Amino acid sequence: MIDCNSFYASCERVFRPDLAKTPLVVLSNNDRCVIARSYDAKPFVKMGQPYFQIKDHLRRHGEVAFSSNYALYGDISQRIMTIIESMVPASEVYSIDECFADLTCIHGDLTKFGGEIALHPPFLE
Ligand SMILES: [Mg+2]
Repeated sequence: MIDCNSFYASCERVFRPDLAKTPLVVLSNNDRCVIARSYDAKPFVKMGQPYFQIKDHLRRHGEVAFSSNYALYGDISQRIMTIIESMVPASEVYSIDECFADLTCIHGDLTKFGGEIALHPPFLE
């Protein structure tokens, strides 16, 4: 199983490299509650927490909240799945940020292999 970390938050960071070290969260429809947190936001913000409860905290600490952008997440997901498909003999999409992949042919460090997915040129086009 391949699973993207903090997927929606990671997608937002693709277009905001300036926020690489800023904790960020993604909000549900109408900005009601938190549906994704970057790794560095997890200690401060609970999953599902209502936005109004954390709005001031985020502002005080320079943390950022994004309204969800499902078209963006779907597009990035498709690119990732296409790349994975090209790198392994068999794969099956399970959810927007997860897939089953046959990794039996990958010899060596699987973490390194994961990093190579992100460096694959079609992802950056
Ligand atoms: Mg995930």
